[in-house]
Amino acid sequence: MTTITWTCPVCNKDTKVDCYPPVEARTYGDPLDCYPGEDAYIDPDECHHCDTPLDIDTILEQASEKDAADEEYYESLKEDEED
Ligand SMILES: [Zn+2]
Repeated sequence: MTTITWTCPVCNKDTKVDCYPPVEARTYGDPLDCYPGEDAYIDPDECHHCDTPLDIDTILEQASEKDAADEEYYESLKEDEED
């Protein structure tokens, strides 16, 4: 789960949004180990301030960009330690 800060284009206020990536279904092997996939979802799915619905694709894209940026940041910290 990734939390991003989304700025509403309508009221220009920030809302913290929890982003849950999709879960891939497992449909092979022991039937007891199988489970259905889950669609990605975001919480909340509308602006806290003016109830404008959020676009899940935009939010998930921001979340994956944030994840990539965080990863780069931690990589750079690691490199600093090695010096
Ligand atoms: Zn708003």
